[in-house]
Amino acid sequence: MAAPLSRLSCLGCGATRPIEEALTECPACGGLLEVLHDLASFGRSGREWRDLFDRRRSALPNAETPAFERSGVWRYREHVFPALAPEEIVSKPEGATRLYRSADLGKEVGLARLFIKHEGENPTLSFKDRGMTVGVSWARHLGRTDVVCASTGDTSAALASYAAEVPGMRAVVLLPEAKITGEQLSQALHHGALTLGLATDFDGCMRIVADLARTHPVYLLNSKNPVRIEGQKTIGQEAIHDLGWEVPDWFVVPVGNAGNVSAIGKGIREWLDLGVIGKRPRIAGAQAEAADPFYRSFLTGFAERVTRTADETEASAIRIGAPVSHPKARREIELSNGTVTRVTEAELLEAAALANRHGLAICPNSAVALAGAAKLRREGAIGRDETVVVVATAHAIKFSGAAVRYHGSDARHANPARSLPASLEAVAGQLRR
Ligand SMILES: *Cc1c(COP(=O)(O)O)cnc(C)c1O
Ligand SMILES: [Zn+2]
Repeated sequence: MAAPLSRLSCLGCGATRPIEEALTECPACGGLLEVLHDLASFGRSGREWRDLFDRRRSALPNAETPAFERSGVWRYREHVFPALAPEEIVSKPEGATRLYRSADLGKEVGLARLFIKHEGENPTLSFKDRGMTVGVSWARHLGRTDVVCASTGDTSAALASYAAEVPGMRAVVLLPEAKITGEQLSQALHHGALTLGLATDFDGCMRIVADLARTHPVYLLNSKNPVRIEGQKTIGQEAIHDLGWEVPDWFVVPVGNAGNVSAIGKGIREWLDLGVIGKRPRIAGAQAEAADPFYRSFLTGFAERVTRTADETEASAIRIGAPVSHPKARREIELSNGTVTRVTEAELLEAAALANRHGLAICPNSAVALAGAAKLRREGAIGRDETVVVVATAHAIKFSGAAVRYHGSDARHANPARSLPASLEAVAGQLRR
């Protein structure tokens, strides 16, 4: 019999398990699992892969075209999850987000070749859809009906929305009470998830949901589940494709649970192995000062795995004190000769305001990456003429409270609304000011 194309492999002890076992941690040592595909067995050269992906990208859709064929995730389907047949895919579609060449914004932060990959343009307005199309498709394939997650707001929105498309599937979401935005909460409620607000922070919710998955027949769809990573790795791959196969010098990514850095790094390594690309981009992780355990670990040369209690920040989607994917993300930072940086609350708010002032609707979490890129530029770690892709992870509109608070303050780029009497003179008077 031929060896299975995909398997689960433990980062901790190296054990491998069949992919169909639907495990979300190693049963032997409790370590993180990753999905490994035997992609060389397809027997295609790098050039042949690029041609295939180019053909799919330029194919004209019509009314009968299935969603997965319009998806920026499933465009790369052999590399994403070959164990799923196309007719098993639950797709909206997702991905195929825009890559913005942000010349004016780049000038402001001293980067001549700045691009923003806007993952806020996904169906539920964050990159989590890329992971969830894989996770929910696989859950359905396995016959799992209760799918669960802990969330800072965007994972729960994506899980609820994808599960809502599958008859008989129920999303159960654990949220840190009053620590996610109203827009995010509305998504889980609207899409019919069993929504549980717990009196703890994200890390507390994560511990409970992991225990729930160990003791009850529920399928965990946090990024600890390695199948999520397979969808998310297409963020970096699609950005490279967007650039006409030019590999950027840097990807700059906000870090919360650290799944996304792990995913982007894995996608790049696989494409290097297959000869799809010939150069390795560097990956920079960026955190907010209020929730900076990965940065603090980096400062020790990763000798220590730091955890902390995360404090309040407008970058609430990355308010995480114990990043679950730390070992994977560490590997990608080290292998890519990357770095980790940290920005203050003022810096991230400023960067969000600046990007939005230039017409790009990015959220405070995305702004952590932008502010991080600016800081790395100032420190000389990133060169002026290097090609930099900042990953914007969600849309500004999911965090309207942060924007309204900022513009009501006396911050540098604040643009406060003015209250006026209902008269022509009052309005005209404002125009003359
Ligand atoms: C989930 C999320 C992140 C963090 O991604 P990780 O994979 O947990 O590091 C960043 N920004 C937004 C908007 C998110 O929803
Ligand atoms: Zn193990």
